[in-house]
Amino acid sequence: MSAATAPAVSLTAARQALKRYYGYDNFRPMQGDIIQSILGGQDTVVLMPTGGGKSVCFQIPAVVSEGVCVVVSPLIALMKDQVEALKANGIVAAYINSSVGQSESNDIARAAVSGHLKLLYVSPEKLLSDGFMQFLTRVNVSMFAIDEAHCISSWGHDFRPEYTQLGALRQHFPSTPIIALTATADRLTQRDIKTQLNLHEPQVFLSSFDRPNINLVVRPGQDRLGQMLDFIARHPGDAGIIYCLSRKTCETVAQKLQQKGIKAGYYHAGMTPNQRAEAQEKFLQDDTQVIVATIAFGMGIDKSNVRWVMHYNLPKNIEGYYQEIGRAGRDGGPATAILFYSFADVMSMREMVTKDVPQRQAQLNTAKLERMQQFAEAASCRRRILLHYFSEDLGCDCGNCDICRNPPTTFDGTLLAQKALSASARAQQRVAINLLIDILRGMRNQAVLQHGYDQLKTYGAGQDLPYLDWYSYVHQMLNDGLFYIAYEEGYALKITERGQQVLKGQLPVSLKKFQVAEKAEKPTRAGKKAAAEAAATAAGSPEARLFERLRQLRKRIADEQGVPPYVVFTDTTLQEMAREQPTSRVAMLSISGVGMKKFETYGEAFIEAIMQHGPPRAVPAEDEADDLPSVPPFIDESASKKGAAIKGATEEATIELHRQGLSLAQITQQRGLALSTVQGHLERAYAKGIDLRLHEFLSDSDLAAIAAARAQLGPGAGLRDLFDHLREKYDYFQLRLAGIRAQRGR
Ligand code: ADP
Ligand code: ZN
Repeated sequence: MSAATAPAVSLTAARQALKRYYGYDNFRPMQGDIIQSILGGQDTVVLMPTGGGKSVCFQIPAVVSEGVCVVVSPLIALMKDQVEALKANGIVAAYINSSVGQSESNDIARAAVSGHLKLLYVSPEKLLSDGFMQFLTRVNVSMFAIDEAHCISSWGHDFRPEYTQLGALRQHFPSTPIIALTATADRLTQRDIKTQLNLHEPQVFLSSFDRPNINLVVRPGQDRLGQMLDFIARHPGDAGIIYCLSRKTCETVAQKLQQKGIKAGYYHAGMTPNQRAEAQEKFLQDDTQVIVATIAFGMGIDKSNVRWVMHYNLPKNIEGYYQEIGRAGRDGGPATAILFYSFADVMSMREMVTKDVPQRQAQLNTAKLERMQQFAEAASCRRRILLHYFSEDLGCDCGNCDICRNPPTTFDGTLLAQKALSASARAQQRVAINLLIDILRGMRNQAVLQHGYDQLKTYGAGQDLPYLDWYSYVHQMLNDGLFYIAYEEGYALKITERGQQVLKGQLPVSLKKFQVAEKAEKPTRAGKKAAAEAAATAAGSPEARLFERLRQLRKRIADEQGVPPYVVFTDTTLQEMAREQPTSRVAMLSISGVGMKKFETYGEAFIEAIMQHGPPRAVPAEDEADDLPSVPPFIDESASKKGAAIKGATEEATIELHRQGLSLAQITQQRGLALSTVQGHLERAYAKGIDLRLHEFLSDSDLAAIAAARAQLGPGAGLRDLFDHLREKYDYFQLRLAGIRAQRGR
């Protein structure tokens, strides 16, 4: 049946596939409409922010349609990640790019022609290379998905010349629908995507660019390290990125974090490709908790469990800032973005963005930097400001930024403004912000004394206020138009007409007081203690402990299979497991993010961990519950009525039954344990040196085949690679046993 005459697959089938393969109950807003459009054979353009859920928009149509969806993706690393994630969900997918050898490419090509594949990822270079289009005509292509479609536009920041040739697809495949996806929404890019891909009356879906789960915070740039350590201590184990301006800062910050016992790494363009790949890999695998990086880091990173992003320095513009914070909370779980802000940063950044560029560009860069500065100094909902920048109106305040959470209070600031204006006037309007504050606060430093500012009448007139308060107020006066900055005169503050009016008492001034900024500056001893206690309590709650345990299990499984932990399950899925504590098949499958395949692969292990953790939720957990054997109701089909899933002592019992000659199935049956549990017992015993009847699980030729594969793959290969390489012929239990045997040397 050709694609044109095929009956449209219903959205119900799509929803069932979403549940079955991804374990999600519902589509997110727009996903359903997008999927319907593409299933209806329409060319479709999708503009959605990072983490919005673009992948599902073409993966689900691919799964429910006949034929192969060809995905064009510009980044090799991302391709690998996506294919791994698809496989983990039980969807047959592969990729072909320069990293894939000829014979493997041939195998994949055969699988595509035979219709065995659902998704085939290719790099644009590969797609456009000799003979590839020709080959594709032999494949039943269900649709083309062009990921990161903004790469087609020379206006954008990721322009890729190869992408401009993708227009040829339409000539070769006039009736195959094309779906183009990007997280860049500007008008020019949109237009380029439509025209260059030769899309035919495409349906365009522009979703909101809001990322409501990211808590937006701006903090004064004092004691940045202290503030960072404080935050990390409150969020133990949570992965985060710290963006710094310079390579040097990356290295020193990472070093300082390491000295405090934090698993931190760094990443910047000055490192060799190998060093960079290693740093990135460790971060993806959760071996590094914090990565301190220049903005070179992050492109092509799919890690969904980045829980926070910090900007050690002010970003150049809002586009960059938004893209960088967008790497937090892709799984939809709570995330935090913290920006450290100081005026000194604005000054150095200003020099940077205007140096060695044509004047027009310098003006544009400066204007963009000023928007960034306005955002950092804002006294109203930050998310509204951000979204306004992207021409979107939130309609109301967000409730999830520092301003919304801790609204500033307004007071009559006329007197304070007069003090500042007067001090500036008496210093001949020659001083910049910092020096003005020093004068007001009566500081005796060199800059003050050198010019005799300690002789001014206003010297010390504001000594009752801390530095940071003055800092905030003077900025508000700037924003209010009482001062302006003469950049060409060493950033001196100049009094405006409006400022003169205030000075003469003709105009009142209202100022805002920020609570958070003050607290964040120097946490008091009591504050530090309270924070530490709060963190400890939260971390000590039964739910938090279970989450931690599940996180460790996830890490172990991920390492064994050589995939990143978030490919096993996302943080949000683990959180839900910790909350709901599912101990049956049905309950586990109802957790968002647990599809059929993942249940089959990991379900038992996670159920076991939950059972071992303590009584189910309804029963209040005792403190020692962790160490007590517990017998919760286990209603999985594979469990016997005895339900004797008792921790400890059980390994020996399994070995005993194995010695008596019982098969795996019989032991599972008799003991009322999950298969994976029994297998785990056998593996551990075997690793400890206890002999098993190995041939019951592996023949000599199996062992030889596995050993040969291992040798071929080399020492760096994980179990998962082995599993794939052997075309899933052996299960993980068999592969692990073979591995232990190789280590034992017999
Ligand atoms: P994008 O490609 O737009 O950056 P992804 O496709 O990686 O986003 O999706 C981000 C996260 O949201 C992933 O963890 C994905 O599994 C999850 N997700 C996507 N669609 C849904 C849905 N309908 N329900 C729940 N989670 C979803
Ligand atoms: Zn807000």
